[in-house]
Amino acid sequence: MKIIECAIIGSGPAGYTAAIYASRANLNPVLIQGIQPGGQLTTTNDVENYPGYPSGVTGPKMMEDFQKQAERFGTKVIFGTVTKVELTQKKGGVHKLIVDNKEEILAKTVIISTGASAKYLGLPSEQKFMGSGVSACAVCDGFFFKNQDVVVVGGGDSAAEEATYLANLCNKVYLLVRSDKMRASKIMQKRVFDTKNLELLFNHETVEVMGDNTVNQIKVKDTKLNELKIIKATGFFLAIGHNPNTEIFKNQLDMDEVGYLITKPDSSLTNLPGVFASGDAQDSIYRQAITAAGSGCMAALDAERYLAGLH
Ligand code: NDP
Repeated sequence: MKIIECAIIGSGPAGYTAAIYASRANLNPVLIQGIQPGGQLTTTNDVENYPGYPSGVTGPKMMEDFQKQAERFGTKVIFGTVTKVELTQKKGGVHKLIVDNKEEILAKTVIISTGASAKYLGLPSEQKFMGSGVSACAVCDGFFFKNQDVVVVGGGDSAAEEATYLANLCNKVYLLVRSDKMRASKIMQKRVFDTKNLELLFNHETVEVMGDNTVNQIKVKDTKLNELKIIKATGFFLAIGHNPNTEIFKNQLDMDEVGYLITKPDSSLTNLPGVFASGDAQDSIYRQAITAAGSGCMAALDAERYLAGLH
């Protein structure tokens, strides 16, 4: 079976940037897209902070451009998900990736850019109404709640972005923040404060998502007053952060207690030779498209140097 120089797992800004660099360095990379081709940016609306787009760009369009640029230099893009990995500990050895539980890919280097996925509260009622009123993606599902009342949970930039996005579509948006302050950047907070049909509820937690076949109300608790209330709403949107998609690397690669891959300082090197990590799978701090892209570039350069060092 053919052994390739470089396999890239994941298709967000980190994966595609790694692919652009690796293909331009003649590594003939194969990129396996994963469950969400294009990554998290395909569920965002306008990206205004990625340099080079003075008028902004939509997340899906930007990721289409990333893919085209990687393919232009010969990256082979595979639609599929890596379900298992067998990583060698031997320098110069071959790593095995299994795609969709069947196809095997053998590679001298592996660049991991599997990103992160949305977190849920873990309430049984939230699970029950998944897809019937509960969503973690306002841009994907907001349209279904046009002119209705919805609840958004979270206090970070995602929550601020999703709540203001929904306010444009919906009749009323309630934003539940569990503490007495938002973690979102000042500019995003200002957008929240300036949105007329958005009610900000500090010190509020979700007790239960309620409804018949679909959501029709949310039971919440005002933790300051210790009072329960009902909010009439048909949509319940989570925006409470993300978990790194690193489950398949457990017991093979070093990771922190949350699951973020650990890389050696100032590099993309993991604890195994020929395995490099980039993007949100290893970054719990910055988590931006531009930082992910930068780290994808680092991973490709590190892979190239590693391969050169084998000769
Ligand atoms: P964050 O981790 O920044 O924020 C998560 C929010 O959810 C916090 O307010 C947190 O509350 C709250 N939260 C966590 N768990 C629960 C829970 N169980 N119940 C209720 N609330 C909960 O995640 P984000 O996804 O918002 O942002 C991630 C990164 O992406 C950040 O660096 C952000 O700046 C960036 N980002 C940038 C955007 C942009 O620039 N356009 C858009 C979106 C994200 P608490 O504060 O109490 O912990």
